[in-house]
Amino acid sequence: LSSARTLWELIARRAGLTPDRPVLLQGDRVLTFGGLRTRSERVAAGLYGMGVRPGTVVAWQLPTRIETVLLSCALARLGAVQSPVIPFYRDREAGFALRASKAEFFAVPGVWRGHDHTEMARRLGAEGIFEAYDSLPDGDPSVLPPPPAEGTSVRWIYWTSGTTSDPKGVLHTDRSLLAGGSCLAHALRLTPDDVGSMAFPYAHIAGPDYTVMLLVHGVPAVLFEHFALPDALAEYRRHGVTVAGGSTAFYSLFLAEQRRHPGRKVIPSLRLLAGGGAPKPPELYHAVVREMGVQLTHGYGMTEVPMITMGDPQDTPENLATTEGRPPEGMEIRIVDGEIRLRGEAVCQGYLDPAQTAAAFDAEGFLRTGDLGRVTDSGHLVLTGRLKDVIIRKGENISAKEIEDLLAAHPAVADAAVIGLPDAERGELVCAVVEQPPAAAGLTLPEVTSFLRARGLAVHKLPERLEVVEALPRNDTLRKVLKHRLRERFGGRPARDR
Ligand code: ATP
Ligand code: MG
Repeated sequence: LSSARTLWELIARRAGLTPDRPVLLQGDRVLTFGGLRTRSERVAAGLYGMGVRPGTVVAWQLPTRIETVLLSCALARLGAVQSPVIPFYRDREAGFALRASKAEFFAVPGVWRGHDHTEMARRLGAEGIFEAYDSLPDGDPSVLPPPPAEGTSVRWIYWTSGTTSDPKGVLHTDRSLLAGGSCLAHALRLTPDDVGSMAFPYAHIAGPDYTVMLLVHGVPAVLFEHFALPDALAEYRRHGVTVAGGSTAFYSLFLAEQRRHPGRKVIPSLRLLAGGGAPKPPELYHAVVREMGVQLTHGYGMTEVPMITMGDPQDTPENLATTEGRPPEGMEIRIVDGEIRLRGEAVCQGYLDPAQTAAAFDAEGFLRTGDLGRVTDSGHLVLTGRLKDVIIRKGENISAKEIEDLLAAHPAVADAAVIGLPDAERGELVCAVVEQPPAAAGLTLPEVTSFLRARGLAVHKLPERLEVVEALPRNDTLRKVLKHRLRERFGGRPARDR
């Protein structure tokens, strides 16, 4: 399987090996590996009948459902170029993605969660709109041209989260996605008895990454169109999920649920929480492992490189808590002036905008990640922040992440974001924005600073301003905090980063 050059080749080989094993479980529905192949082929034939050819750009904005996976695999079968758009995106971001990718077709869910996507697509002037929710294009596979023979053409356009600026269109090939997914597959050490779950938008790059993992191991995953407790927990129990895929926000959700039911495991079958893509405070790691009785492994990835490092579930608790794990074979990591740079098969081809591509790669072909980090003696990667997330106060560089990690340990802090705000005298001042759990009473700046000082934080890094909010602004994909919004709100700074 590991020698497959395209996603379709991998699907076909897996379907040949274990056609009757389930791959996707959703509600009462079960799709097998064999079904994945035959149904995707029919959808591909339907798309072909609509005029989709190898190389045609097809955008889709669909929730996490079996149909969405089938459509995506059908496009891979045809060798079309697909541009997945996060379902929550509205006119601004979706319009941006459609125009920039020059999509000729646009698949939408019709009405989803009360929002009419078809109406929005018309408003955006999208051509070739079609609904792909309950029904999918369908046709006789005998009309199809042969599947793509190589995996080195750009066939995927993914959108970055837009945390630091407008979302960027990232160009991937089957080869880069297969490389990322295979790394994930090996890192998690799954066995044939495992049952995974996808509780993230399939339109995120983690979607195909995770799918490749299922194909490599021949294991199924439960899909969640809407993820909400306690219903989701019932699904986990019903299908006997052993490996839950999500991110930091999910770990916290599970942990909170566990705390409501002391003395019994809320998901008895669960053995591993596996996620990544957003910061994970070490305390959260320890609390999950101790209180939930499961292992937690967290990784570092980005839209440009779906899997960079992943914690090995068999590593020491210390390494799992404080590092992002080690890079897989074939991933070259270089630290230049504190910034992480990457080269390897899983790295994207570049961006839709050639100027962004030119700026992103260095002379030796390493991608500048914009993330700060270091590699320990044992080869583990430690993330220390983002280039754009460094506060420069009186000429001293201050890592927002260091302060955030400390704040997260305060009992009255649900989550914290530390930002630099423009200040005439100091250049920037350190502002801590904290989210308080509903039950916690007001927090004061002196309390916060003495808490941080007691934990050894240098005086020049202590926050000079505190803002308490009910909820931090977050993106819809990984619930990442949108700091540019906080800067706009509290700093009055014109939206410099956007
Ligand atoms: P944009 O590039 O549009 O500003 P973004 O970088 O947030 O948005 P993504 O590609 O979704 O968009 O996110 C990748 C980034 O997420 C990484 O560059 C890194 O900053 C952060 N990240 C990923 N994994 C982790 C992790 N384990 N811990 C902390 N941060 C992480
Ligand atoms: Mg980025």
